[in-house]
Amino acid sequence: MNGFTVAIDGPAASGKGTISKAVAAHFGFAHLDTGLLYRAVAAKVLAGADPAAAARALVTDDLESDALRTPEVAQKSSQVAVIPQVRAALVDFQRSFAARAGGAVLDGRDIGTVICPDAQVKLFVTANAQVRARRRFKELSGKGMDVTFEDVLADVKARDARDRDRAEAPLKLAEDAVEIDTSALSIADAVATSVALIGGRMP
Ligand code: C5P
Repeated sequence: MNGFTVAIDGPAASGKGTISKAVAAHFGFAHLDTGLLYRAVAAKVLAGADPAAAARALVTDDLESDALRTPEVAQKSSQVAVIPQVRAALVDFQRSFAARAGGAVLDGRDIGTVICPDAQVKLFVTANAQVRARRRFKELSGKGMDVTFEDVLADVKARDARDRDRAEAPLKLAEDAVEIDTSALSIADAVATSVALIGGRMP
């Protein structure tokens, strides 16, 4: 299964992370949540670092922190993600991960379009903004964070707009991607649909 890559893109809280983890576990592939790279850069920028320098100096340990999940880091991550030098510094790490022996699943915004244009399977996971904000609100309030639904919805919409409208590697459907709308799908159904699509493309 060397070099077998699954690219899963989509907007914030679309369910792509959940699907990615589940399909990676199902097929025994390694999984990289590429949003963590931008979040880790954002956390360093919030602590005073220069964005491009922070991206170049990133190490895997930087991806482990729970503090990367806050709304503040999320917003900042979509701001650092528009900077071409930041994106460029993170390309090699993502491509080497994709090429690892045993297969890999990468989820993000530009995996099927820019990072792994030759991925064997490309999924584009969507859901309407209300549904996505509800999921994110549940996740954050479940962790004890002091957030309101309205704030989370506004955050999700602002991040979507920034991710879709940026000049470099904007969030968009790759020509050969399969779109999965999870607005009315259970996690089990979304995972089963994805597993069937991936299984159908395996050698
Ligand atoms: O996926 P997650 O919500 O953790 O990503 C945080 C931010 O990182 C996104 O809003 C986006 O701006 C950026 N990102 C990106 N390209 C990726 C993954 C994430 O620009 N491949």
